[in-house]
Amino acid sequence: MDDCIFCKIVRGEVPSKKVYEDDEVLGFEDIRPLAPVHFMLVPKKHIPSLADAAADDAGVLGRMLTLSGKLAREQGSPDGYRTIINSGRIGRQDVMHLHMHVIGGPEPLGAMMPKSNV
Ligand SMILES: [Zn+2]
Repeated sequence: MDDCIFCKIVRGEVPSKKVYEDDEVLGFEDIRPLAPVHFMLVPKKHIPSLADAAADDAGVLGRMLTLSGKLAREQGSPDGYRTIINSGRIGRQDVMHLHMHVIGGPEPLGAMMPKSNV
């Protein structure tokens, strides 16, 4: 997708602080971190949303999930972390390229979301 910010990051047209890269997945730091550790894992292929993922995407989605623990530890979250995939309007997805937030740090995180949003 020409105008997708995450596709531009994947192509190197927009700079990012990479934390991981292979042939299918890119990991980079969130520009507005919510915690001491906050990076994103995205498929290099443009998949708009988890809601649009197809059976063919199971491999790359599984890779994103199974990479998260090792990368979270490497980035400074030694004893667990949180993954978030916002999907579509209801899930308040901000960039329409599937992305998984990996959030953590040396101390436990706060509540999942404010009560007012539940
Ligand atoms: Zn994209």
